[in-house]
Amino acid sequence: MPEAPRDKGARKKIVAVGLMKKLMADHFYELDKAAKEGRPKVAWCTSVGPAELLRAMGFLVYFPENHGAVLGATRTANDYIPLANAIGYSPDICSYLTSDVGAFLKGETPLSKAYEGITSVPKPDVLVFNTNQCREVQDWFLWFGRRFKAPVIGVNSYRGVKDVTEAHVEGVAKQIEALVPTLEKVSGNKFDIDALRKTVALSLETTVLWKKVLETAAAVPSPITFFDGTIHMGPAVVLRGTQQAVDYYKALLPELEQRVAEKSGALENERHRLYWDGMPIWGKLREMAELFQSLNTNVVASTYCNSWIFDAFNPKDPFRSMARAYTELFIVRSDEAKEAYIESMVKKFKVTGILFHDSKTCPNNSNCRHGMPQRLKERLGIPFLVVYGDLNDLRCYSEEQAKTSIEAFVEQLER
Ligand code: SF4
Repeated sequence: MPEAPRDKGARKKIVAVGLMKKLMADHFYELDKAAKEGRPKVAWCTSVGPAELLRAMGFLVYFPENHGAVLGATRTANDYIPLANAIGYSPDICSYLTSDVGAFLKGETPLSKAYEGITSVPKPDVLVFNTNQCREVQDWFLWFGRRFKAPVIGVNSYRGVKDVTEAHVEGVAKQIEALVPTLEKVSGNKFDIDALRKTVALSLETTVLWKKVLETAAAVPSPITFFDGTIHMGPAVVLRGTQQAVDYYKALLPELEQRVAEKSGALENERHRLYWDGMPIWGKLREMAELFQSLNTNVVASTYCNSWIFDAFNPKDPFRSMARAYTELFIVRSDEAKEAYIESMVKKFKVTGILFHDSKTCPNNSNCRHGMPQRLKERLGIPFLVVYGDLNDLRCYSEEQAKTSIEAFVEQLER
């Protein structure tokens, strides 16, 4: 395989990105066509909702959080958030929700610019949530459900879980099973356990490969950065349970393994290695990547990218293993469990500092507000930095302030 070019700084480009762009384009065109023709039926799903069940029942699956991230990354979110605020959705709640609702109210989507002929998000036939990550997703889906007069169903999950027990698994599995009659009615298809086993097996295969991709970053130097990860997780998020996702990671993984074998890092000069906790700042990914690169510092691992690793999937026991996978998720867990997890990541990825993103509108995925950084510093003996910002609302982020504090933090690591 030829040596990949570096971009205008010294970050090495990943060749497989071309294939990923095609997969994402196919995904959106397929959804657009289905929504226009009324077949197959379209289900909206939260990022760790029961996508496997929806695919097994013949739905095409659309993930509004992915659209939220696109609104952030294209820096259009701030054009739309005020429209949602004006109808009563506070500027303090999830800026995925407010920018997505606002964009819909304005009749716009950044998908139009990227994909010719697509003029709106695909109309849902059913909306299926899981509150394992937050209550906001339920409110978000209820708004669109009223708008489209489509049924909104879902799973009300546990939160703050220390150890995932049989009782948790049973509770969630029963709720997933209870979705089946509505899904049969909307799709017109009978539930087929073998189809479900097949999608769970594909999700498992995807997750195993995605985990291997992320774990290449344990090598020194790391062949990949957190910022690359936020892009390459696309198929793991929107195509979980399909052969395309499996094929994509089968293409990406050897490229990274070759870099590891050649000791060829994503950065030309990797001096420091950090862990990122919390949401990305979507509108500033490039600037952040360039800043860290200029400081010879690689953010090698993150809670965010790891959130699409689901070790528990088991095609032999589809409902219960889905329930376990959705409940073992980092965001669902107690601080004690989260701290043990971060400790294992710090060791595995040989990081010497932790960056916590305090994302103004997502308390659910900001872990620095109840003493966790201080406890981890004491436990692991490594420093931390809190960066204040937001996933989508750039009014909550000061680039100057973040840059100054990141530079000072790396200086501290130098010393
Ligand atoms: S976890 Fe945070 S960013 Fe994601 S939907 Fe919930 S509030 Fe929004």
